[in-house]
Amino acid sequence: MRRPSYEHLVQDVLGEGVWRDLGEPLGGRGGTRDIEISGISSFVVDGNFPWNLIVVQTDAEVYGVGEAFTGPVREHIKFLETALIDHNPIDVARNVEHMNQVLSGIGGSTGYAQAAVSGIEIALWDIAGKLLEVPVYQLLGGKFRDTVEVYKDCHAGEPLLAASAGDGASMYGPEQYQAVAEQTLDEGFSSMKFDLDVGSSSNDTTHRRLSGSEVDQRVEIVRAVTEAVGDEAEVGFDLHWNFSVETALEIARAIESFEVGWLEDPVPPESVESHRRVARGTSTRILAGENLTRLEGFLPYITEYTVDFLAPDIQKCGGLLEFQQIASLADVFGIPLAPHNISSPVGTIASVHAAATVPNVFALEWHASEVDWWDDVHVGPPLIDDGRIAVPEEPGLGITLDRSVLDDHCSPRESIPF
Ligand code: MG
Repeated sequence: MRRPSYEHLVQDVLGEGVWRDLGEPLGGRGGTRDIEISGISSFVVDGNFPWNLIVVQTDAEVYGVGEAFTGPVREHIKFLETALIDHNPIDVARNVEHMNQVLSGIGGSTGYAQAAVSGIEIALWDIAGKLLEVPVYQLLGGKFRDTVEVYKDCHAGEPLLAASAGDGASMYGPEQYQAVAEQTLDEGFSSMKFDLDVGSSSNDTTHRRLSGSEVDQRVEIVRAVTEAVGDEAEVGFDLHWNFSVETALEIARAIESFEVGWLEDPVPPESVESHRRVARGTSTRILAGENLTRLEGFLPYITEYTVDFLAPDIQKCGGLLEFQQIASLADVFGIPLAPHNISSPVGTIASVHAAATVPNVFALEWHASEVDWWDDVHVGPPLIDDGRIAVPEEPGLGITLDRSVLDDHCSPRESIPF
């Protein structure tokens, strides 16, 4: 009989007599901890981005939820399900290593393969915590803080979709930014971020350059926002990988005299050296890293002091354990972290658990202010209170999803597997 293709591929990838063969499930511990993964599935909810929610089912009463970074992860989830069926979900590190063993020889150490690993790993932690009746942060070694500071992504002073659909150059001036900065302070945030890359008068932006007057426009936005917040908040500005080294440096140097928390992703993400040139050419602090995966991806950014701050995305970088390793090495080199986060409450609360367990996180992103039902997805009060999220004390991730709200916002033809 023909074997299912992914099962066949997993067996082929691992081969016979592989050195680090983790394909054989471990059992034998007895009691309620002797459980097996019975299925892994995903569904998409239409939030500020399409949210990839992951569900890991077991042969016991307990299941876990996780979230993978937005984008095409479903085939990776199906592939990894084949590798993990019958394995004990609470051996989280072993399961992650098994997934990475299966993926590494077929180019899966980066990109959406690692987003899938991240989402599954989060769900495994949720299972382990529920089964052992402790919060995920406790399983990860305990917490450094009871609440995690959240910085609000204010886009360009307007919701993201409106900004990208409109003529940014004329729609967004310093006054609009300033008004949103003041409103965000009123909401209790002491950290926030704005897009500084919207709108250009040029009809050719492929050269990644700005004119002197366009740089001046951005300086006026920075002036307006930093004057509005004074010393009441830290403010970052995001350039979304849009500029050449020369233009990025021109912007970074032009805003050096303002109280800017950080300038984010000034140049395309593929080149370590271009980041280093920008960071070393300005006193403005440079933040990057949301597109990097696994510790090896972060190595040159950490060990060579390429940027000032790092922003691992916990739904993408390889999971909570991988995040801890990245944070730990960054701490050795004196580099603070502000994790990137554009996810639903599931990914956000997973990020809170992880961020609580390392010393060098100073803020976690929140990117969904335009989704007015964001907090309806979970049962209970809003997650963010006065600009911070409390680290949950309930077992697992400590978040209970509202099935009817998920149903209302599920992508067409998606089904929720619980
Ligand atoms: Mg960003």
